[in-house]
Amino acid sequence: MTKFSDLKLHAKVLKAIDEVGYTQPTPIQAGAIPPALEGRDVLGIAQTGTGKTASFTLPMITMLNRGRARARMPRSLVLAPTRELAAQVAENFDLYAKYTKLTKALLIGGVSFKEQDQLIDKGVDVLIATPGRLLDHFERGKLILTDVKVMVVDEADRMLDMGFIPDIERIFGLTPFTRQTLFFSATMAPEIERITNTFLSNPERIEVARQATTSETITQLVYEIPASGRDTGKKKRDFLRQLIDQEGEKVTNGIIFCNRKVDVDTVAKSLKKHGHDAEPIHGDLDQSYRTRTLDGFRDGKLRFLVASDVAARGLDIPNVSHVFNFDVPSHSEDYVHRIGRTGRAGRSGTAMMISTPKDDKLLAGIESLIETTIPRGETGMVKPADAAPEKPEAQEEKPTKSRSRSRRSSKSKNAAEETQSAPQPEPEATAEAPKTEERRAPKQDKPREEKRSRGGRGRGRNEDRGPKVVGLGDHLPGFIEKSFEERRTE
Ligand code: AMP
Repeated sequence: MTKFSDLKLHAKVLKAIDEVGYTQPTPIQAGAIPPALEGRDVLGIAQTGTGKTASFTLPMITMLNRGRARARMPRSLVLAPTRELAAQVAENFDLYAKYTKLTKALLIGGVSFKEQDQLIDKGVDVLIATPGRLLDHFERGKLILTDVKVMVVDEADRMLDMGFIPDIERIFGLTPFTRQTLFFSATMAPEIERITNTFLSNPERIEVARQATTSETITQLVYEIPASGRDTGKKKRDFLRQLIDQEGEKVTNGIIFCNRKVDVDTVAKSLKKHGHDAEPIHGDLDQSYRTRTLDGFRDGKLRFLVASDVAARGLDIPNVSHVFNFDVPSHSEDYVHRIGRTGRAGRSGTAMMISTPKDDKLLAGIESLIETTIPRGETGMVKPADAAPEKPEAQEEKPTKSRSRSRRSSKSKNAAEETQSAPQPEPEATAEAPKTEERRAPKQDKPREEKRSRGGRGRGRNEDRGPKVVGLGDHLPGFIEKSFEERRTE
């Protein structure tokens, strides 16, 4: 079996790993570190929880330990889709590079440009950034990317979902052709395949088993409660509290997942009102509040984190005893990500999900993905009338057809629908806002209606827009228009 000491990592890195207490490399580390240290491109197909962050940070630290950065010219670049993930990579870097003199800067939204500029001006070895923020700095002339020797793209499939692929392509183009690329994605969608074919050179491909085969250390239960109509939300909140009470002291801490930001807020408020220690986390909340909340949860000061998928995705929070799915996730794979927040590193965990009749199809989709029938929990305890009265909800969601639709086949379709139908999960909450309009969503993901109205500058569909010319926008040069006119008269 491979040991860290077999991996040709720098002695200072080995010392840090030893202190952290890792005894053995994970499969992605054993697979990715040797080719990375040889200077080869790496394509890692792995998701969070597999140890992938160390699989790129450890060889980077080893390789960068020789040499120093020049002002404004970082020697390596790590791109992550969300602020939290970027911050997490930065934490990992600090941990593993503690015995080296390497410097880093974290470029994420919510932090002042001035502070970040000062660091870059001094020269950093590692720049960790979200794509939009990185390009902001670049465009302000504060950053030169021609000295980047290693570029890491983390969670590429998430980047795709969030419309960041044009940014990534642009950043690839700004770095030297000779750079080394370490590229990680949980899945290989066709668009991701295309990017890797374009920008990676003969990469070593390492694929580790999908976490989708849900960990055996997690006890899963689904509670099918007979709630429908207007007071569904209230019944679910009552039931959630009953579950928490039923689990009692077994719940040392828990993450409660909701599909929509508005429900994240409502559930957190309701739990607090009933005496539970809970805080919400989603992308509409102020960055410093989010950081405080997460830190509190990590440190064991906060018992319940009520979260949206995006806010919690990829976050490494060890020791979570319970995951509660307040909603059945709209995309089956999110179930795997959500419950993977518990039962980490061989510890036991419990994942409980509340399902209502309108969720039947989604539930069936999840069970088919994980190839398991989730055991049904006892729901006899649902007696909404027994629960403490709550104010009627202002923003209760109306059931719509699209809500019960089962998982669609492609991610791009998902993204398009997310922008179209209100009850779908919200757009990527903790993402850095894409910079240009184009970045907001990949071309193929645009809802049709949006595409149509673009050229029309907001005019109604049936209004007269003059001669219909597809593909040339509003600014049709006269001489071209003339040729169309001639055709028409013919
Ligand atoms: P990641 O997939 O990078 O988010 O890592 C998931 C968790 O695994 C983090 O808590 C790491 O600290 C931990 N981890 C990474 N490498 C190892 C290892 N070799 N042995 C044990 N735990 C590890």
